[in-house]
Amino acid sequence: MGQRSGRQARSKKLEVALSRTMEAEAEIQNKEEEAEELKAKDWKLTSVFGVADLKNGAIGLYNIGQSCCLNSVLQVFFMNTRFTGILRRITVPSHAGQQRRHVPYQMLLLLEEMQCGKQKAVSPVALASCLSIHRVKLFVQHDAAQLFLTLWNLIKRQMKKPELVEELSDLYTICVQEHLACQKCSSETKRNSNMLTLPLPVLDSNSHVLNTLEDCLQCFLRPEELTEHNMCFCEQCGRKTPFLQSMKLVHLPQTLTIHLKRFCFEKSAYIHKLSHCLPFPQDLDFNAVLTENQCQAGDSEKAAWKYEIFAVVAHSGSASCGHYCAYIRSLTECKWYCFNDSEVCEVSWDDVKCTYGHSSLHWGQTAYLLIYMKKRPQ
Ligand code: ZN
Repeated sequence: MGQRSGRQARSKKLEVALSRTMEAEAEIQNKEEEAEELKAKDWKLTSVFGVADLKNGAIGLYNIGQSCCLNSVLQVFFMNTRFTGILRRITVPSHAGQQRRHVPYQMLLLLEEMQCGKQKAVSPVALASCLSIHRVKLFVQHDAAQLFLTLWNLIKRQMKKPELVEELSDLYTICVQEHLACQKCSSETKRNSNMLTLPLPVLDSNSHVLNTLEDCLQCFLRPEELTEHNMCFCEQCGRKTPFLQSMKLVHLPQTLTIHLKRFCFEKSAYIHKLSHCLPFPQDLDFNAVLTENQCQAGDSEKAAWKYEIFAVVAHSGSASCGHYCAYIRSLTECKWYCFNDSEVCEVSWDDVKCTYGHSSLHWGQTAYLLIYMKKRPQ
């Protein structure tokens, strides 16, 4: 266990910290916005739009300049009927200016247009310019995992009704318990934290390729020794000591987002993409994958950890230049679609499996985000 495993341990911490920082940042902006809104005296509460699910097949989104990433992430949100069920209950801001910068409202307008229009595709330009007010740049290639977090945090921040915020959090939030145990004395610290994605490594601590999603999960939850430069200060010992860092799953949400860390920073200054084949199952039962000490959950919680795949956000190309599309299973029609900007076509599970990746096809499609949904109890 040298520096490499330490680096991985740090990056795991960083992922969790990142989610938390974004929450804190959102909190501050939230307060600023609330103060702004109080100034608007004739603030009225209006609820609009009865039904906003996409019932008549699937509608594309035009690429308005490097927007394939945004389009793919949006389609995953819009095809999730539980999410749209929350979205259509938002409180609509009454001022035109507020409406322009209100992300959930702009998403709802776009969804309405997709549902009501007769076109094969619609333009997300109003939503994209709304996002640009919130520092989400236009005309640049985003990282789908990062954009999902940013969008989600913006939606949550701007949804005013506490019950909707709670429903949105319940729908997506993964709860974990982080353990840090001093290897010289018996002291141990535990901390609960929330995550929006499970950031799974696709290489093990020795930089060997992981061959299945189940192996990636195991690797993510494997305890890490923090030694040498990564030692932590132990209050009981009064000095820096080796620690064992581990993570246990406490709660898994209805919609579970897995982020395959295919963009690799190691060994060079440049980000490179890991394209090797990594199959993922249609059905994923966490009880069959995890050991007892990787969970911190009761029997009824664990009984619900049976998932089926709902969507795959796939990336093709290199780390610096690429393209995103989304494969999504329509929940109303039980059919798979490939959403490639304005082009939408029906596909089969075999087509979705093409996103497993291939080590000799660096420009081929590889799954980057996997979105699983809890199965209904039998
Ligand atoms: Zn100690």
